[in-house]
Amino acid sequence: MMGRYTQWPRVVIARTVGRAWIPARSRGYKVLAIESSCDDLCVALMEKSAGEPAVVIDHVRTTLDSAAAGGIIPTDAQQFHLASLGPVLAQMLAQHGGFTPDLVCCTRGPGMMGSLSAGMQIAKGLALAWQVPLVGVHHMLGHVLVAGLLLPPQAGPRFPYLSLLCSGGHTMLVLSRSVADHCVLANTGDIAAGDSLDKCARELGFQGVMLGRELEHFVAAIPPTEVAQIRQVKTHDAEANEYGFRLALPLRRRKHREAAVEVTSEPVEFAFAGFLSSLQSYRHQKLHDAAFDARTRQFLAVKVQDLIFDHIVDRVNVALERHAASLEGVRDFVVSGGVAANLLLRHKLAAGVRPFEFHFPPLALCTDNAIMIGVAGTAIFEQLRVRSDLNVLPIRKWPMDALLAADGWVAVGDKEYKGVIGEE
Ligand code: AMP
Ligand code: ZN
Repeated sequence: MMGRYTQWPRVVIARTVGRAWIPARSRGYKVLAIESSCDDLCVALMEKSAGEPAVVIDHVRTTLDSAAAGGIIPTDAQQFHLASLGPVLAQMLAQHGGFTPDLVCCTRGPGMMGSLSAGMQIAKGLALAWQVPLVGVHHMLGHVLVAGLLLPPQAGPRFPYLSLLCSGGHTMLVLSRSVADHCVLANTGDIAAGDSLDKCARELGFQGVMLGRELEHFVAAIPPTEVAQIRQVKTHDAEANEYGFRLALPLRRRKHREAAVEVTSEPVEFAFAGFLSSLQSYRHQKLHDAAFDARTRQFLAVKVQDLIFDHIVDRVNVALERHAASLEGVRDFVVSGGVAANLLLRHKLAAGVRPFEFHFPPLALCTDNAIMIGVAGTAIFEQLRVRSDLNVLPIRKWPMDALLAADGWVAVGDKEYKGVIGEE
């Protein structure tokens, strides 16, 4: 459905980053980055010097409004990108007259093929027209690497570090040892945490988009004494509460726990789909599909939000136990993705997971954005010294540990490298 999209306010981070980090001796190079893996269309204009943090000159995010459709329809998302990328780029470049990139970065995967194709195709065209290298970026690498962007270099996460990426599209715990070396310690076996929050909130009668945030606000508005009382009530058994509602932490039976902490290199699984089915079957069986009354709605909202986050903490701990041998030297723990904005989740992680130095990047860098694609693309170019061939295709499923195993990487020679980063 074209034309129905929400224009987010522009996020201009250049001022808060501070140009002082760019050493005077280098002219710096300019980067144009495009993110189009799902329903967010994002473009960033950045400036970079080799080995220094990027400075964001401008960033735009526009999101397809899928509220009426009840979810993202891939063909709608592709049309949205095809129709909007040109005008968004034209407007940004007109506003920053004279911005001629030295490097073009775009998301290559994982994501929806139509959305990825639209972004990649225009990125290839721009790289070709400007005669500059193209870097096709792994979306999750962007999430992992962007966390330290606004911090002074010594305050940001240092390899090896953990990232919990918790959004509408993914829930995964990643151990990163370098730009190219990532290991997924836990991943969702069904849907993502944000998707689960959104679907549960819709079942509870919330409407619109970003329903995880609505649910957080709704629970935060309940008087604390009532929330405390609700938290006392047990739901492991329908008999244990006056509502007759059963909701337990997934994957907690003994056979699951024994399997979970077995020493194996397999990722630990999260399971979020059951939260919605519990709500649906409760409404169907107890209420014959009628709407929840106000008191029941409050009770369910508190319980569902609590248990989804308790499940995250539980599985993170299982993953840390299973992969303990790989965690030596890990000090930093980044929590990113839209769901990471939730204060209760932050509190539960900080209180329930063994002490790490937790980093919660600002929301503009947590949710899908093109800044992270620029950050990851420049890291690939500078540190791995590769670029993408112009014949590369989008990759729908791209494991994080197979970053360089994808086809189409081309080694960057000294002359090309220096030509981009501006060294004499
Ligand atoms: P992303 O996929 O990273 O763009 O983030 C969007 C997802 O994050 C959606 O599922 C939202 O419902 C969820 N989300 C955003 N803000 C919050 C919040 N404060 N609490 C819980 N979930 C949130
Ligand atoms: Zn993402």
